Amino acid sequence: MRNTAIQCLFCGAIAAGLWVAVFIAHFLCHQVSELQEVIQEPRIGSLGKYANQQIRPSEKISKQHMINGKSDPEFFHELFKYGFNAFFSRKLGYEREVPDSRSEICRQKRYSLRLPTASVVICFHDEEFNALFRTVSSVIYLSPPHLLEEVILVDDMSEFDDLKEKLDYQLEFFRGKVKLIRNTKREGLIRSRVIGASRASGDILVFLDSHCEVNKVWLEPLLHVIAKDPKIVVCPVIDVIDEMTLEYKTSPVVRGAFGWDLKFKWDHVFSYEMDGPEGPSTPIRSPAMSGGIFAIHRHYFNEIGQYDKGMDLYGGENIELSLRIWMCGGQLFIVPCSRVGHISKTYLAEDKFPIKVAMARNYLRLVNVWLDEYKDNFFFKKPSFYKSMAYGNISERTELRKRLGCKSFQWYLDTVFPELEKRNQA
Ligand code: UDP
Ligand code: MN
Repeated sequence: MRNTAIQCLFCGAIAAGLWVAVFIAHFLCHQVSELQEVIQEPRIGSLGKYANQQIRPSEKISKQHMINGKSDPEFFHELFKYGFNAFFSRKLGYEREVPDSRSEICRQKRYSLRLPTASVVICFHDEEFNALFRTVSSVIYLSPPHLLEEVILVDDMSEFDDLKEKLDYQLEFFRGKVKLIRNTKREGLIRSRVIGASRASGDILVFLDSHCEVNKVWLEPLLHVIAKDPKIVVCPVIDVIDEMTLEYKTSPVVRGAFGWDLKFKWDHVFSYEMDGPEGPSTPIRSPAMSGGIFAIHRHYFNEIGQYDKGMDLYGGENIELSLRIWMCGGQLFIVPCSRVGHISKTYLAEDKFPIKVAMARNYLRLVNVWLDEYKDNFFFKKPSFYKSMAYGNISERTELRKRLGCKSFQWYLDTVFPELEKRNQA
């Protein structure tokens, strides 16, 4: 009798255990699949319908096949390792001349010699060596020396061998102009930028990705706008460096926007933005900045609270900073006469899971600090997923908002980005 009771209890415990395991597995699978959908797009965002040339990735690969004449496993290995065509990047080497993508009206503009100085901050994690080097050399060769205080490179704990002694050695060439900071643990882009900015001494901070090439007279138009008003934050137009051919392609002038999912996207510019004496070279009001190629006055960056250091890796920080600038008394503009090329790492085959977790968490932090009664528009699609996720302590950021006397999200919608309210939540 006792044995039977024990057997029953034992079987019951196993059955209950199985049910719990099935329930947990189901819950985790659901969370993972929700997470997979959180972010598919890179932060800088492809130009989509705004681009003149659209080649699908598969077509680009076959184009490369034709160039190589054969399928090369090493080529694909590198493509997935670096996110773009490293074979061509090596061929281009440490510097090259890119086509001048500025409009005629921009080419005719002249800028004062007495502008504020710039510290260019470039963070990198496991970047392709030549692309990184071209970023640095293009900045050094195409910025007036008296305006370029320094280039600050922040190595966010890269593991690639050539980014160690070889990089130290090659950077000796730019001795005096380039500072290299090595993080002792991976901090992510957001905290790395704060680290880089804290070591800067120029008047203006200019943040770039580590796979960019700046164009002719790229710096002066940015500095010129900030010199007139230090509470204006400016972005260049982001030209496309094709990730497969590395061809430099001129982008149309578009403004930065986002939907209720807070994913960044490009948006058309209203024609009235370009009225006025400067015509199509007039800086354009932008509701948001893309990934984070922008210039900001160093004191203003500190005054408005740098970045949310509780955010991990990257993702969402560009939208958070955009809202903070607009809602707390600043302005954000795109300057059509400044152009910077950027490679989108379409093919990167890194483990995206930690990035997606960080992005979801970062979004939650920004939503809970800035979206007021519009929070639910963000939660609408995945309420259970987001509401069950921890996002850390945000009190420092909510206090910052109070201290800066920032306006409401309703004000942002009414004044800066009325088109968002009309967008549906789906
Ligand atoms: N980065 C970094 N630490 C990280 C992740 C990224 O320093 O943990 C750097 C990366 O090398 C690049 C910049 O941050 O220079 C932006 O990353 P990425 O180009 O992948 O983003 P996107 O272009 O998609 O905005
Ligand atoms: Mn990038």
